[in-house]
Amino acid sequence: MIYQRSSALFAEAEKYIPGGVNSPVRAFKSVGGTPVFIEKAKGAYLYDEDGNRLIDYIASWGPMILGHAHDPVINAVTEKAKKGTSFGMPTETETEIAKLAVSMVPNIDKIRFVNSGTEACMSAVRLARGYTGRDKVIKFAGCYHGHSDAFLIQAGSGAMTFGTPNSPGVPRGTAKDTLLATYNDPESVKTLFEANKDDIAAIIIEPIAGNMGCILPEKGFLEGLRSLCDEYGALLIFDEVMTGFRLAKGGAQEVLGIRADIVTFGKVIGGGMPVGAFASRNEIMDHLAPLGPVYQAGTLSGNPLAMSAGLAMLTELDQKPETFKSLEEKTQYLHKGIARILNKHGVPHQINRMGSMISVHFTEVEVRDFDSSATGNNDTFKKFFHGMLNEGIHLPPSAFESWFLNDALSYEDLDYTINAVDKIAPSL
Ligand code: PMP
Repeated sequence: MIYQRSSALFAEAEKYIPGGVNSPVRAFKSVGGTPVFIEKAKGAYLYDEDGNRLIDYIASWGPMILGHAHDPVINAVTEKAKKGTSFGMPTETETEIAKLAVSMVPNIDKIRFVNSGTEACMSAVRLARGYTGRDKVIKFAGCYHGHSDAFLIQAGSGAMTFGTPNSPGVPRGTAKDTLLATYNDPESVKTLFEANKDDIAAIIIEPIAGNMGCILPEKGFLEGLRSLCDEYGALLIFDEVMTGFRLAKGGAQEVLGIRADIVTFGKVIGGGMPVGAFASRNEIMDHLAPLGPVYQAGTLSGNPLAMSAGLAMLTELDQKPETFKSLEEKTQYLHKGIARILNKHGVPHQINRMGSMISVHFTEVEVRDFDSSATGNNDTFKKFFHGMLNEGIHLPPSAFESWFLNDALSYEDLDYTINAVDKIAPSL
């Protein structure tokens, strides 16, 4: 496929935007080449500026669970836009989406909307600190909770891709309150609690990690975190920015049967508009301003266009819960197909999958944490990524990102993808 116009657009963008992009992983730095510039998208396909049609496994990094430019979402937004794009005053739509979200997700009474997953996680931690009166937070190496200071410590996603998991610019004073544990290792968490008995406000975790590739929690791991939090009076924060409304109506809490104290959302909840949210039970949420002393605010928070997109998206998922099953079946089909082909060609790999999140790691080591994820062969990934792109399939341009399936993908698309792997596997 030809990506001539994309290359020209990227060269122009580099003059005015750092690295030519507004979010680092888009720049293709770790896979080489120039990013594909998108003109439009519909259903399972992206259409780029060179006129290529690409099968999309990024889904805007998660939100497009029902496919791109999904009619109910587009209609809701266009109708709303005619009435004005922002008021900075309350609207009924905010209550409608809040009510629906609270009815879909277990263990939450109230939800507050913000503009990104970063804001949601940053605010959730502030709330946990305000509620407990403690400063320290435990996070896991390889988990990504957005780019606010407290989380850029051994962070996943782009920070891991570019080798800057500990970003310059994060003050030492802030970093010292972020304690680092190992995913799937409850002992590493216990040790931190024992050494910081009355100081830990919360554990924040991606219940299914998606930012060091997809990594599943082993049996007993999250249960162990729940009991440690109960024992030491800390809060358990599930970062469900990726998993919320993707794995099930009630997200990972529902699928895994584990209660979190605070849950953060992003991506699907905004239907593709810039939205994040955090939620908890009344006792905790009532600590937020204007009811309580923990301050958090936003000029554009609860924006009418964003809320109407999110409401249309959640309404459809609420009314058609079979979507989650359909997505899971499609992802399982892809998983089996790719595994069969890579085995046939003798390419060492691990495939991790949960629901409609999946990632292929080119390593012989079982991938269960940050270190094992980092053993993946990036040269093989680069060849895989570009081979697939050449076949008209757009994967996330980093081995440390999960792929997200959307329900507009057909079995023909999946077969096409599996056949493409068969074509390129001999060169891996
Ligand atoms: N938490 C998780 C689990 C994420 O995957 C992301 C983004 N990929 C974020 C938080 C941050 O969200 P945003 O990019 O919307 O700020």
